[in-house]
Amino acid sequence: MTLTTKSPAETKKFGQELARKLRSGGVVCLFGELGAGKTTLIQGIAKGLGIKQRIISPTFIIARKYDNFWHIDLYRLKSLAEVQAVGIEEILSDPKSIVVIEWPEKILKILPKHYYEVRIKILNETEREISEAIH
Ligand code: ADP
Ligand code: MG
Repeated sequence: MTLTTKSPAETKKFGQELARKLRSGGVVCLFGELGAGKTTLIQGIAKGLGIKQRIISPTFIIARKYDNFWHIDLYRLKSLAEVQAVGIEEILSDPKSIVVIEWPEKILKILPKHYYEVRIKILNETEREISEAIH
């Protein structure tokens, strides 16, 4: 499924709708360059899950946990060992966790068999093409 959003609010709304499919657990891999709107989309997912805290881009922290919801941002990740130290494999294999990953291309080797794949493409300053597939 592919759609175009015309504002950050529309991208958040997409995330909010995606959250409905995640309530009982799941992994979402968010692909897209810097500034594509990955964190914005995650704010929508968190809202859809009823999480009240504000979701920000973790700067030096790889993983942040909000209840059973994990926001993982691998932008600064240098090696697979670094995430393994955080215990990412346990997080990913817990059927009850809801995990959203920015820059998942850095850990392709350890991603679970099944996950939601969301790709965000910058069309122009305010428009994003979002495609969603089940991997
Ligand atoms: P990423 O996490 O992919 O680096 P962010 O979500 O942090 O991206 O930032 C996306 C930026 O793009 C924000 O400044 C946001 O306001 C802007 N933006 C403009 N149009 C859109 C859109 N349609 N959807 C999402 N973000 C948008
Ligand atoms: Mg981000």
